[in-house]
Formats: sequence, structure tokens, C-alpha cells
Amino acid sequence: MDASNDPEFGIADWQRLLRSIGEDPSRQGLAETPGRVSRAWAHWTRGYKQDPATILKTFADGGESYDELIVVRQIPVYSHCEHHLAPFFGHATVGYLPSGHIVGLSKLTRLVNCFAARLQVQERLTAQIAQSLLEHLQPKAVGVIIRCRHMCMESRGIAVAGEETVTSAMLGNLKTNPAQRAEFLALAERPD
Ligand SMILES: [Zn+2]
Repeated sequence: MDASNDPEFGIADWQRLLRSIGEDPSRQGLAETPGRVSRAWAHWTRGYKQDPATILKTFADGGESYDELIVVRQIPVYSHCEHHLAPFFGHATVGYLPSGHIVGLSKLTRLVNCFAARLQVQERLTAQIAQSLLEHLQPKAVGVIIRCRHMCMESRGIAVAGEETVTSAMLGNLKTNPAQRAEFLALAERPD
């Protein structure tokens, strides 16, 4: 969905949704809601307009000789499941072992946002982050771990409130080298 391209369509659509659940879109508290929701959804799905290749443009600052794991932990994840359009949210840990190409650390956060701000399932989100790092940086290894709470599970199903879903993707050396994998997992361990 891209509500920002056609706000009139978006507003009429949200008014129809409000009516369908038994609400009166014209009452005072809801008068501004369709426009607000359209803008909110444009933000929550902004990732469709973002290009991982642009985000991951490498730079030369002398870090090219660095050949140890680079790991960023606790990157906030805010996404929406494609089955219910319900939020899922949590944190990602992203690591890679560079081979000549490094990126600014904030780029890893932007990469997570780029894929999270689309309709997702957590498994694909995890794989897409890992694959795009592999494709654009050609590192020796990539590791991604994501922990999220899913509102569609917690509010409807049998899941216990606060329960986390954990997904991971290990590529390159992290897949084949147990010592490297153990090092990544130690670095990725939750701080609490
Ligand atoms: Zn769902």
C-alpha cells in the first residue's frame, strides 16, 4: 500500500473500514483519523521506496584492513506482519566479517529499517537483511538474529504475552566455521 500517493483514496478507504467495524467516521474523535492513518501507513511502509544498494554504499576510511567481526546489537525493529497487518516489534543483531568493504554502523540500522518498513514475516525479514549484506558487501560472513513480539499472536492466539519469536540467518563463514559462529553468538548475546 502506498497511501501517500493517493490520499483521497486512502481517506475514503479508512472511513469505510471504520464504518465496517460499527464506528461513525464523522464523530469528532475520528474526524482526523483517516488522514492520520494514511500518513502513518505511508511511514510504516516507507521501506518499499528505499534501496538496500544505496544504503550499503561502501566508503573508504582506512577500515578496509579490519578483518574481525563487526556486530551491532539491539537495533530496534518495527514491522507489520503481512497476514494480519498487525505490528511485530523487537530487536535485531546484525554482524558481518568484512573482506575489504565496510559500511558506517548506522547503515546497518537503516538496512534493518528498509526491510522492516514493509509488510513482512519475521523469517523473510531476517533472510533479506542477511542476503543484502552478502550481496552488497561481499563479506566473509553474515549473521542476523531477530527477536520480536507479534501482536497478531499475543492478542488472538495462545501465545503468552511477552513471548518472543527468534529467527536467525548465518551465511558464509558463520555457516561453515563453528568457532566463528560461537564468537558471533557470544558477541550477539543479550546484554541483560
Ligand atoms: Zn500475523
